[in-house]
Amino acid sequence: MEQRIIHACGHEQAHHLTGYDSQQERKARWLRTTTCRDCFVVKKRAEEAAAAALSSAAVAHLDLPLLTGTDRQISWASTIRTKRLAEVTALCGVADYHACLQMTDAKWWIDHRDQTDVDLMAAATQALDTQSVTAVTASITDMPRTT
Ligand SMILES: [Zn+2]
Repeated sequence: MEQRIIHACGHEQAHHLTGYDSQQERKARWLRTTTCRDCFVVKKRAEEAAAAALSSAAVAHLDLPLLTGTDRQISWASTIRTKRLAEVTALCGVADYHACLQMTDAKWWIDHRDQTDVDLMAAATQALDTQSVTAVTASITDMPRTT
């Protein structure tokens, strides 16, 4: 049964409620305490933007190399890279994540976006090891070496 619910934010929204009357009543009562879908999306976007701003601030000092790939890949990968580097730089030493800083292939970041922090750092180290030395940018010589 479709019911119009006035949400906590003051907006009205139609909901399709199912189940017994008592279940529908309980669901309707709960829905009235929540925000409507539009307000939920707005709030979620604001939270994401705030989190992205925090991540950007956390990696601002890293002087990251430009990513390579298509415009679309670069834009997506740069969001992923910022978020992941903000995480690993907060948790790990530069020795662990310095390989990640050298990964400029946008596709690599997109392909590895769901990896755990440990797997991400290991994959970056491995990828750099298999690259020829000449492909590694000059900036790596500025990084603390750990061997
Ligand atoms: Zn609302």
